Amino acid sequence: MICDRCYKPLAEGEHGRWKCPLEPRPAYVGVIDDQLEGGPRRFETMGHDAPYIETKSQWKREVIARNLEPIVKHDRAYYDRMFRQHDERLRDTGRAD
Ligand SMILES: [Zn+2]
Repeated sequence: MICDRCYKPLAEGEHGRWKCPLEPRPAYVGVIDDQLEGGPRRFETMGHDAPYIETKSQWKREVIARNLEPIVKHDRAYYDRMFRQHDERLRDTGRAD
């Protein structure tokens, strides 16, 4: 499986927004280490009260307090689906985007 951002094997290293070796990083990453990727937002998957979380450390506290397992949002199934949709689009329209 090849990463659609950097065209390197997904098995090597981390891939995704701001993670790929060739992906440009926003300037603040590394400056504010507690910055939540994607920005502050409500987490509806954490419970019916959908806590509003602003930082990584707050996210971690909520996960522990709620006795939840941290879940990687974009798992293998997500990428499989994205690649399939991409291939279907390409076949149907002759365009990749
Ligand atoms: Zn990549």
